[in-house]
Amino acid sequence: MIHRLHQPDYDRWASQIKRTGGCRQPIHLRGKVEHYDQATGDLLHRYTTRTEPNGVLRVPCKTRRASRCPACAEVYRADTYQLVRAGLVGGKGVPETVSSHPCLFVTLTAPSFGAVHTRREKNGKVLPCHARRDAETCSHGHVMSCTDRHSADDQRLGEPLCPDCYDYNGSVLFNAVSPELWRRFTLALRRRFARLNGLTVKALREQVMISFAKVAEYQRRGVVHFHAVIRLDGPDGPSSPPPAWARADALAEAAQHAAEVVTTEVEPLGRTFRWGTQLDVRRITMDGDLTEQAVAAYIAKYATKAAECVGTLDRRVQPLDNLDELPVREHARRLIAACMRLGSHSGLADLRLVHWAHMLGFRGHFSTKSRRYSTTLGDLRAAREEHMRAEEVSTGRLPLFDEDTVLVIAHWEYAGQGLSIGEQALAAALTGTRLPGPAVMTDE
Ligand SMILES: [Zn+2]
Ligand SMILES: [Zn+2]
Ligand SMILES: [Zn+2]
Repeated sequence: MIHRLHQPDYDRWASQIKRTGGCRQPIHLRGKVEHYDQATGDLLHRYTTRTEPNGVLRVPCKTRRASRCPACAEVYRADTYQLVRAGLVGGKGVPETVSSHPCLFVTLTAPSFGAVHTRREKNGKVLPCHARRDAETCSHGHVMSCTDRHSADDQRLGEPLCPDCYDYNGSVLFNAVSPELWRRFTLALRRRFARLNGLTVKALREQVMISFAKVAEYQRRGVVHFHAVIRLDGPDGPSSPPPAWARADALAEAAQHAAEVVTTEVEPLGRTFRWGTQLDVRRITMDGDLTEQAVAAYIAKYATKAAECVGTLDRRVQPLDNLDELPVREHARRLIAACMRLGSHSGLADLRLVHWAHMLGFRGHFSTKSRRYSTTLGDLRAAREEHMRAEEVSTGRLPLFDEDTVLVIAHWEYAGQGLSIGEQALAAALTGTRLPGPAVMTDE
């Protein structure tokens, strides 16, 4: 810390750090940008990192994972919120008339892979976990009953009543095939919605577009759920109203049906997977109990959570890792072990279970949307970068050039990542962020 403070270029370092917005693990870039006049070939401006502190420019890591970098994850969360919200009420290039389109909020769950400790509430009272009067004793000697009323932070939540009975293979395979199950769900939904309205799928497509935005959420037991916004548009997407006959109740019926009937196979093991029986389909309305703000906030919250909340690893499992020594919950260790075991099965190579073991088999994206749902994260980022560039021009840091007449040549290389312990303390003070806990330097 003292070393950094005494550097002659401390002020420049501090301004770099402020511009990362409190990023906990900024990426160091080495390189240069040159602006040339296209007509004359004259060099108009050159920026190089050679004169920067340590010869590098520090830029935000842009992770979406709050466990790695709260500041960048917050930017991602806010962008996701804006993206989901724009698809519900308009804005960011989506017309406000979209708010009158029929819209659902659907939660698709995973099936059971064995009894786990759970916390359920009824009328504000916590219910016993698994109260069974004639509870069976499993072949491992565990009584399949638990009358505890678990507190919200109870470490046993999500843990199986008997780990030896628990279907760990099923759990990680479900995560692995869930993106395919989702894809089949959307197809079945379209088919059913068309039939309910007496149309073929092709005829439906000419009159109605169905748009989706979804996030995956890990449950404590280590399987993913999906929360999705499903919206009806006219044939040209959010800017066109759906025909009057395209109604929310038929869409809800189609979603219900699709969730019940779709399956996907893991053929080499002869296993079939489907959604869990707990299905939640609700209408999103401007004034009802499920408002667009609530939905956007809910989806954005899960967009920055990965599997760490299950107590698994924040990084890939490496070939030399000793599974027994990984700092994870026993339940997560068994799920990771199932991924490693099934991952060596040649027939399951497509699922890439070893690669995604730390995600407990899930290799999908956390938040996805169909093409016409609303704006994109890329557009939101570009708008923000354009805003920052405009700011730099007005504060005189970048010369103002006409984009069409200037040739820009940039060359960048990765030169490392992170902050020293002393720098972390300075960065926290400079950006008003919390100091991280241990082990924040990463090599990824
Ligand atoms: Zn960051
Ligand atoms: Zn229990
Ligand atoms: Zn058992």
